[in-house]
Amino acid sequence: MKLHSIKLPHRKASAEMPTLKTLNPPRVVISMSQHGGVPCTPVVNVGDQVKTGQIIGTSDAVISAPVHASITGKVAAITDVINIAGKRNTAVVIETSHRQEMHESVKPPAVTDRSSFIDAVKTSGLVGLGGAGFPTYVKLNFDPKENSIDTLIVNAAECEPYITSDYRALVESSAELIGGIKLLMKYLEIPKAFIGIESDKSKAISMLTELCRKEKGISVQRLPSSYPQGAEKIMIYNVTGRVLKEGGLPMSVGCLVMNCSSVIFINDYLKKGIPLIRRRITVDGNIVNKPLNVFVPVGTQLSEIIKLANLRKTPDRVIFGGPMMGSSVYDPEMPVMKTTNAVLFFEGAAALAEPTPCIRCGRCVRACSLNLMPTELESAYDNKDIERLKKLKVNICMNCGACSYVCPAKRNLSEKNQLAKILLRNGGNV
Ligand code: SF4
Ligand code: SF4
Repeated sequence: MKLHSIKLPHRKASAEMPTLKTLNPPRVVISMSQHGGVPCTPVVNVGDQVKTGQIIGTSDAVISAPVHASITGKVAAITDVINIAGKRNTAVVIETSHRQEMHESVKPPAVTDRSSFIDAVKTSGLVGLGGAGFPTYVKLNFDPKENSIDTLIVNAAECEPYITSDYRALVESSAELIGGIKLLMKYLEIPKAFIGIESDKSKAISMLTELCRKEKGISVQRLPSSYPQGAEKIMIYNVTGRVLKEGGLPMSVGCLVMNCSSVIFINDYLKKGIPLIRRRITVDGNIVNKPLNVFVPVGTQLSEIIKLANLRKTPDRVIFGGPMMGSSVYDPEMPVMKTTNAVLFFEGAAALAEPTPCIRCGRCVRACSLNLMPTELESAYDNKDIERLKKLKVNICMNCGACSYVCPAKRNLSEKNQLAKILLRNGGNV
């Protein structure tokens, strides 16, 4: 079976730039909804002094992840913010102190078996760093009697243009990646692991291949450089040949898929106990003078990143994430989330293109790796035709953006599919 894919320009100008040390913003705005699932409730009050790594938000819900202070300072406010998905949620605002200290709770967790390993991942606040933001411990907490997982797939594709934060993690922390893979294999009893990586990332491939020579059951799987190589379904098929059925989870085909930065984080967390309080982000775009990668505390605001970006012009568009699947941001106060892997700045026609009528060229259909019908989906969404949207399987759309990218009429096909899924979830109410 050959899956459709598209070729994208890479534009990965920051690939060979070592990651800059952590930015120290004067304040952070930490959303209590950093993950898929139930948002956290703040456990601190305005005026409290908090230290780096201290828990500031928790939830008893099964699908959630604790939120930690990313800097040391004073809680200046607990307020409502609009998050990247356009939803209102609570955020804890911390103003920095001159002295940055780790909280006393930050220490390596005691991990001896599967259960304590999963508990540690839960306490760490880890969510899928590839962008999905699903709490990782939930994914790891499968019942081995019901789901026999024989393959760990480390997703190191990073197939979107511009973004190099995963690539920098691979070359700067390749030994830590192998360490994280070994921990997952050991505690979850998974016999083999593949690092799925696009073949053009030759430096990372040779470093990892060398390290894998000494390891049993871990190997590097070179994949074609195409889009959307990093989509879970595509990755599973290209690495193992297994087909994930509609609505199925990777465990239904014996696979656990983890983003490479998440795996490195697990290794580091078990060694040092520092929870998920910072992100490595790529800062790039067509008006950035010097593309770079930098560690930023979770909650760092866009206005601080703009200072760092050294822009040539005022941007027409700012994107958190990649140009294919990221979200446009309009508020300079928008904070970096746990899931943010890039902040991109653009100006010009590409940033402002308006849709024109469909010319029925069929390119969008040929671009879709899931064989969906983007034009039909668009029409069904415009007519709010719920039954047709279901029949056309809008729910399996990955919102990869490939259809929108190839469309000469610049129609917002992927965006409409996203809205259509929300429409279905709301039972047809807009
Ligand atoms: S956004 Fe959806 S419909 Fe468009 S190419 Fe991707 S999977 Fe297919
Ligand atoms: S690619 Fe654009 S113009 Fe071509 S059929 Fe699809 S929606 Fe219409």
